[in-house]
Amino acid sequence: MGRRKSKRKGAPRRKNIEPMPLLFDCPFCNHKQACEVKIDKEKKLGRIACNVCQELFQTSVNYLTEAIDIFNDWIDACEEQN
Ligand SMILES: [Zn+2]
Repeated sequence: MGRRKSKRKGAPRRKNIEPMPLLFDCPFCNHKQACEVKIDKEKKLGRIACNVCQELFQTSVNYLTEAIDIFNDWIDACEEQN
């Protein structure tokens, strides 16, 4: 009776809280992972600053805003300036 009961549990459902990527490549000095995003949800402010060249950008955020959005806003703002 070699009945194999393949009890496949499927992929283990891990409650995986992915850490938000908070570091981005700097569009000014081109350093990798040099720009750090901070989100102040109470003040609804998002900030990104480069740890290398000290470039800083600040924008308003809402509850949907993620770090990458702030970074993208920054890039957009940079492009508008040029
Ligand atoms: Zn920089």
